[in-house]
Amino acid sequence: MASLPYIVGNWKMNGTRAMLNEARAIDRAAARLPRVQVAVAPPATLIYRTREAVELIGVGGQDCHVKESGAFTGDISAPMLKDAGADFTIVGHSERRTLHGETDEVVRTKAETAFSAGLATIVCVGEIEAERDAGNAEAVVGAQVEGSVPRLEGAVDKLTVAYEPVWAIGTGRVPSVEDVAAMHKAIRAKLVTIYGDAGAQVRILYGGSVKADNAAELLSIPEVGGALVGGASLTAESFLAIVGAAA
Ligand code: PEP
Repeated sequence: MASLPYIVGNWKMNGTRAMLNEARAIDRAAARLPRVQVAVAPPATLIYRTREAVELIGVGGQDCHVKESGAFTGDISAPMLKDAGADFTIVGHSERRTLHGETDEVVRTKAETAFSAGLATIVCVGEIEAERDAGNAEAVVGAQVEGSVPRLEGAVDKLTVAYEPVWAIGTGRVPSVEDVAAMHKAIRAKLVTIYGDAGAQVRILYGGSVKADNAAELLSIPEVGGALVGGASLTAESFLAIVGAAA
């Protein structure tokens, strides 16, 4: 596993220019925490300005189109994200899978398009509550990993996987330490099956209601290489409390 914990804030559809002050504050604090890798994924309208406002932290997109350009009104391509200053993009977030009907195949194509455009990728996977209750969580997530991660030569080196149980996103509920550990172990095994030794180096983040008061425990779980943070990333204060727990 890569050595530095990676804490990524997903701002979702939140933020206008005033949010740049939060990005600046996060960036200033990150300079004092060299043992954590920090990034934010603002809405696309703020990527360029965030890139200009910060020096150290990563800046990413929240999604990209499967194609590089074309007649897709309202969509944003990976080369456009790159041109705006993004270093990476999230793909396959459960809100995209659920609200936009994205399949594993679509997510994989997006991840490959992003890699081809020079972006690192964070591929999200996670089970819904009924799947966990039925005892199928590891099988479901294993199949998502299998179907969603990029297979282009070299893409594994720029890949992060985020395990985000759908029922934990924005709900204040988190799985037990044992369940997170078991799932991350299963994802690691799947990545090694897919990529061989390179799969052992892929960072696996946990996401879903990570807050200041549970971050240290979640981040101490074996194979948890960081966190993907939604709601608690919207102010520098709450996000930095999580970043601090990783330092
Ligand atoms: C997310 O949507 O990626 C997420 C983890 O959200 P939250 O932290 O708000 O649960």
